[in-house]
Amino acid sequence: MAYTVYIGIGSNLGDRAGNCEKAVALLGRHNEIEVLKVSKWRETKALTRGNGEQPLYINGAVKISTRMNPRELLSVLQSIEAKLGRPAKREKWAPRTIDLDILYHGDAVVNEPDLVIPHPEILKRKFVMEPLCDIEPTLFSKGEI
Ligand code: ADP
Ligand code: MG
Repeated sequence: MAYTVYIGIGSNLGDRAGNCEKAVALLGRHNEIEVLKVSKWRETKALTRGNGEQPLYINGAVKISTRMNPRELLSVLQSIEAKLGRPAKREKWAPRTIDLDILYHGDAVVNEPDLVIPHPEILKRKFVMEPLCDIEPTLFSKGEI
């Protein structure tokens, strides 16, 4: 069965737009991923936890189709993050060359220490909501989510 999945993309280090574009290209090149839609890119202020200023982000989102389950997909996203220069040891709020988050995965609900789906911050983050509404204006009104 193929799942419809929404992935949030962000970068605030290096060639930010280039990193986001490369992430989309790498997703599209994966055998088990079909990229269906790509949002506009937006420049947004970084969320910080009182640890000073951070460079602005470029944020967007993509809609994909995949047969991979959430955990398989997470590991693919982490390997793409690594390829684009994000160190394996992550500091939660540090600037990053690329951040790929699973926002929704079909109708999956996952609540594990290292994987939470739907992503818990979606509704609070304008930089996630706006790209999602670009690619799927009826996402929240059709009862699919
Ligand atoms: P954030 O994206 O919240 O800024 P990070 O990208 O630094 O934080 O966090 C990475 C960790 O978040 C990963 O190791 C992963 O296990 C965990 N994680 C939990 N839920 C998700 C999700 N829905 N998508 C991607 N990573 C997730
Ligand atoms: Mg992340």
